[in-house]
Amino acid sequence: MQAKDWFGDSSVYVVDVPLACCALESQAAAGTANLVDVPAGARIVVALSGTITNAVAPAVRELLAGLPGKPVVVSFGSCACVGGPYWDSYSVAKGAADMGVEVDRFIAGCPPPPEALAAVLEEVRLG
Ligand code: SF4
Repeated sequence: MQAKDWFGDSSVYVVDVPLACCALESQAAAGTANLVDVPAGARIVVALSGTITNAVAPAVRELLAGLPGKPVVVSFGSCACVGGPYWDSYSVAKGAADMGVEVDRFIAGCPPPPEALAAVLEEVRLG
């Protein structure tokens, strides 16, 4: 499995799930971090970045279930938190928590600021 070694020191590995425009913000937060193989026992953060449609929701659940350990799950942006501007769409889930995902951190905004994701990752790193 591969993820971004966010700080380049093996302290936090980030699986960014780029679902819509919020992914541009998470990519901005990532800077030059490259995808690398994740070592056993590593601290993993999953960033759900963007709109979660009902069609993609099973794939998101499957991805989360396949990750080792208990990753920290971040709903990054209004769509991943509560459905965002599409909250009343028949085809959009009202956020990750609404589809049964245990979310550890919610970051609001449409789009959310990259700095907010960077701050959460720093907390995880120090935590
Ligand atoms: S919260 Fe806004 S910027 Fe982010 S995916 Fe939804 S519509 Fe796009």
